[in-house]
Parts: sequence; C-alpha cells; structure tokens
Amino acid sequence: EPAVEIINLSKSYILNNKELKALENVNLSAENGKFISIIGPSGCGKSTLFRIIAGLEKDFTGSVFVNGCDVKVTRPYIAYMLQKDLLLPWRNVRQNILLPLELDGSLKNTDTGFVQKMLSEFGLEDFADAYPDELSGGMRQRVAFLRTWLMKGSVMLLDEPFGALDALTRNRMQDWLLNIWEKHRKTVLFITHDIEEAVYLSDEVYVMGPRPGRIIDRLNIELERPRK
Ligand code: ADP
Ligand code: ADP
Repeated sequence: EPAVEIINLSKSYILNNKELKALENVNLSAENGKFISIIGPSGCGKSTLFRIIAGLEKDFTGSVFVNGCDVKVTRPYIAYMLQKDLLLPWRNVRQNILLPLELDGSLKNTDTGFVQKMLSEFGLEDFADAYPDELSGGMRQRVAFLRTWLMKGSVMLLDEPFGALDALTRNRMQDWLLNIWEKHRKTVLFITHDIEEAVYLSDEVYVMGPRPGRIIDRLNIELERPRK
C-alpha cells in the first residue's frame, strides 16, 4: 500500500460568507520510501494539503490515508517541518533534537549512540551542547531537520525547509538531505517554489496552480533519471 494516498480531496474555507476553494479534487499517491515534491505559486493550497495529511485539519471531502489509516479517524504520526526553524533558544542542540521524543514519551527508549551518529552525519558533532543563537542559519536548519528526521513515523512533510537560506547554503542543505535520505529512506513530501530544487531532489513532482487547489501536472523524474 502507498505511504500516503489522497483520493478526490477538496477543501474550502469560508471567508466573509464566500467560499474559497483551497483544494479541488486533488489525487496523490506516494509510495513508501519515495521523495515527492509539490510545487506551485503562493496561495495554491500546498500548506493546506500538508495540514490535512498531518491530521491537523479534518473539515474536507474525499479521503486521505497515511500508511493505510484514514486521517479523519486516526491522527497519523507524522514528522512535519516548517520553513521557520522554531528551535527553542533556551535548549541546546541535543535538547532541541530530542524534544519531540521527550514529548511523546519515547526518549528513554532512544539509542543515544544513534543520535550521536546522526549529529556527526550532519556535521553537528561539535555543537551538541551549543545553543541556537551560536549557530549559523544553515546549521539551525540542519538541527531542525534532524529533529524532524528522528521523530517516529515513516512519513516526513517538509514545507519549504530551505526557503529562507542563501543559494550556497541551500545547495549544501539539498545534498545533506539527499545523502541522509538515500541512507535511511523515509517517505518525503517536500513543498518548494523552485522547480530546479524539485527536479534535483525528487522521484516525482506534482505541479499545482495557477488556479488554486488543483494539481495540473505530474512529472515522473525517476523514469527519466533513475537514481544510482
Ligand atoms: P505561506 O504562503 O508562507 O505558506 P500563508 O501566508 O499562505 O503562508 O499562510 C500563513 C498562515 O496564515 C497559515 O497558517 C494559513 O493557514 C493562514 N492563512 C493564510 N491565508 C489565510 C486567510 N485568508 N485567512 C486566514 N488565515 C489564513
Ligand atoms: P500555499 O501554502 O500554497 O501558499 P495555502 O494552503 O496556505 O497555500 O492557502 C491556500 C488558500 O487558502 C489561499 O487562498 C489562502 O489564503 C487560503 N487559506 C489558507 N488557510 C486559510 C484559513 N485558515 N482560513 C481561510 N483561508 C485560508
């Protein structure tokens, strides 16, 4: 079964008594372990789509399944990373990374050796005790990404995680992400404005807009450029 399956999803907001269609008849299927990007102009419904997949928004029509579970019935366990890194300034890198595991009670079962290994893979081994304001923008994004990556669950939603970074740092982050993803495959859904970024990272690209809420194209990158 697909990791994420979306069937005929529609979602409207009511604004000043008028209906605003945010998603219209969206279909998407993400196989387990694939890297899928969603691109489209601002306001086309990408974040709404993510909130629905994450189970944060239940007022919609159609069906959304995460690992076979209907998100209207069961809140899926999903790792969700927003553009702003939202690190807690009074916690060091390690404490920030472990926060979700602390909150869901799984910290005591967490392999600290593995956490240390992941810190090294991300070039953060010397910064585990540093505080967010001692880090560069790219490092903070890496910490936020690692925190998301370590969350339980096999599906990751990344909402423009590199949008605020300069071009050089962004290129480096793309390679960090690909590297880690190729080693420890998870299903990734990735929102971006940048078609080059989408093509570089993904197996498949869903293209949304310009009319809000619609998927207008699907590019199968994997067919044209199989991964090594
Ligand atoms: P971005 O384009 O960076 O994803 P948006 O400006 O679309 O961000 O949305 C930022 C936040 O504001 C989101 O949480 C969204 O739900 C909310 N939002 C966006 N548009 C409206 C609106 N018309 N009315 C109320 N809330 C909105
Ligand atoms: P994107 O992430 O592609 O920028 P969004 O999903 O944030 O798009 O928004 C899609 C449309 O829905 C936009 O027109 C936005 O203004 C509207 N919208 C988003 N969130 C809300 C909300 N909470 N209330 C009303 N309208 C919203």
